[in-house]
Amino acid sequence: MRNDFLPFSRPSITEEDITAVNEVLRSGWITTGQKNAIFEQNFCKYVGCPNAVAICSATAGMHVVLKALGIGPGDEVITPSMTWVSTINLIVLAGAKPVFVDIDRDTLMATPKAINAAITDRTKLIIPVHFAGAPADMDPILEAASKRKIRVIEDNAHALGTHYKDKHVGQRGTSIFSFHPIKNITTGEGGMVCSDDSVLIEHVRRLKFHGLGVDAFDRKVQGRAPNAEVQEPGYKYNLTDISAAMGITQLARVDELNRKRTELAMKYREKFKNIPEIIPLGDPAYPMEHAWHLFIVRVDSDKIGISRDDFMTRLKQKNIGTGLHFRATHLHKYYMEKMEMRRGMLPNTEWNSDRICSLPLFPDMTLKDIDDVVLAIKEVLKKG
Ligand SMILES: *Cc1c(COP(=O)(O)O)cnc(C)c1O
Repeated sequence: MRNDFLPFSRPSITEEDITAVNEVLRSGWITTGQKNAIFEQNFCKYVGCPNAVAICSATAGMHVVLKALGIGPGDEVITPSMTWVSTINLIVLAGAKPVFVDIDRDTLMATPKAINAAITDRTKLIIPVHFAGAPADMDPILEAASKRKIRVIEDNAHALGTHYKDKHVGQRGTSIFSFHPIKNITTGEGGMVCSDDSVLIEHVRRLKFHGLGVDAFDRKVQGRAPNAEVQEPGYKYNLTDISAAMGITQLARVDELNRKRTELAMKYREKFKNIPEIIPLGDPAYPMEHAWHLFIVRVDSDKIGISRDDFMTRLKQKNIGTGLHFRATHLHKYYMEKMEMRRGMLPNTEWNSDRICSLPLFPDMTLKDIDDVVLAIKEVLKKG
């Protein structure tokens, strides 16, 4: 057994990140300013999208985009239940109705077929999730949406570096990235809204800072334009330059970080070929590039005789951390009690919700760490 605990994720922070943050701290300007502007420009260049707005979290980004799109009572929003709860919470807080669709059993992503079947006259928005670093099947989803004038927001929280067919996700349409500490790059907390709709982007920029529109006036004096007037009530969701400085240095390394993730993921895949009780996710059938945000396996609890939760506990006792991405949202207390959600509605989602487990995967992990994880799993299986 390992002597030290191996967490399931750990941010990769270098001296460059620390120096960049230090420079901001010493500069006299620590909130939104030049570093935000540079981070946004570099992000646009990396993803290949025309516009980007830095924001304090992906959740805040989703909030302002829902607001900008006018999502509210009477509207239906199609989303997988297999997603982070923030999306569903915001839909409900906006007064709209989340319409859950089932997922492909091996990629954990809502299929275009399931999405099509859920569209009604009230559907205003679809929120596909690029899961674990693989892309959702966007061509048919965007086609179905544009035919009926339904908006689409891509949840790109797992997808920095992800390519769908030959393009980075987020180049077209509207999408939101996250820089939470477990994501492929981090700013402590942070996010980015990308869109090819420049009217929407200006609206997002205004809403993220009190509805003042100061960003549009002068990037250099963001937040201190004393005569700026409220154009509509907005929020306070800006990203600090302390965070943005780290975003710039982290983004410069993202390809290298993802290369390491990929190497580790390939090692896991090779090892699990010989362990039938552990079932990794499958790749989508269309051309793509995987960003390996997470390495998710399904634990065949029928075969091993212990539940997924016990499996996670026993790995923890062996100093191996794990994560759970995600417990199906429709099975959370509030949604079951208040929205009449129940088991049986979404079979593939529920099957996975009971069996998935995210194994340690982060750029500074070593191949030896992978050996430790696999050995611990083998021991747990024997005792199961
Ligand atoms: C992390 C995550 C979010 C939220 O990101 P924050 O920056 O923490 O708000 C949204 N959706 C998915 C799928 C995520 O994994």
